[in-house]
Amino acid sequence: MNLDRVAELIRELLVELGEDPTREGLQKTPERVARSWEFLTRGYRTSPEKALNEAVFRSPGSSMIIVRNIEIFSLCEHHMLPFYGKCHVGYIARDKVLGVSKIARLAEVFARRLQIQERLTEEVAAAVMKATNALGVGVVLEAKHLCMMMRGVEKQHSSMVTSAVLGSFRNDSRTREEFLTLIRNGEN
Ligand code: ZN
Repeated sequence: MNLDRVAELIRELLVELGEDPTREGLQKTPERVARSWEFLTRGYRTSPEKALNEAVFRSPGSSMIIVRNIEIFSLCEHHMLPFYGKCHVGYIARDKVLGVSKIARLAEVFARRLQIQERLTEEVAAAVMKATNALGVGVVLEAKHLCMMMRGVEKQHSSMVTSAVLGSFRNDSRTREEFLTLIRNGEN
């Protein structure tokens, strides 16, 4: 990412908004915003493979593994405003498992891009499936969207829940129920 070019664009944006980018409080803002955007969109400059760094472990057995309350911060692609919330991931390992922190890292790869919540949920599910070769994967994401909350539209829908199920989580209703029960039990 070209930080100088982005800072220049932010300086121009400030002028269009009616601001004076030379006033004291704003002098360093374009550079700060550029670095901030670099961080918030770093998912474009990484990949699931890099995030995992081969931290996939061999493990026999087929019990369900649940990772709850992964914090998600993303940006909606329609307004470039944040949406944020909690992600719950479950999978049934065939022979490979991921470290807990690696699931969060995997989610970061897709969250730190311009997104819609539905696609983010599906991408996380597909990435876990691909990394683990699991029998099934389920992902539930609950998020609040500042584009709705701040702009005063659809306040009653400002919190949204999306889910994606693959493999046995899709085909077997008992597996799906077990997953939903386990993530619900973690609510407090
Ligand atoms: Zn939006």
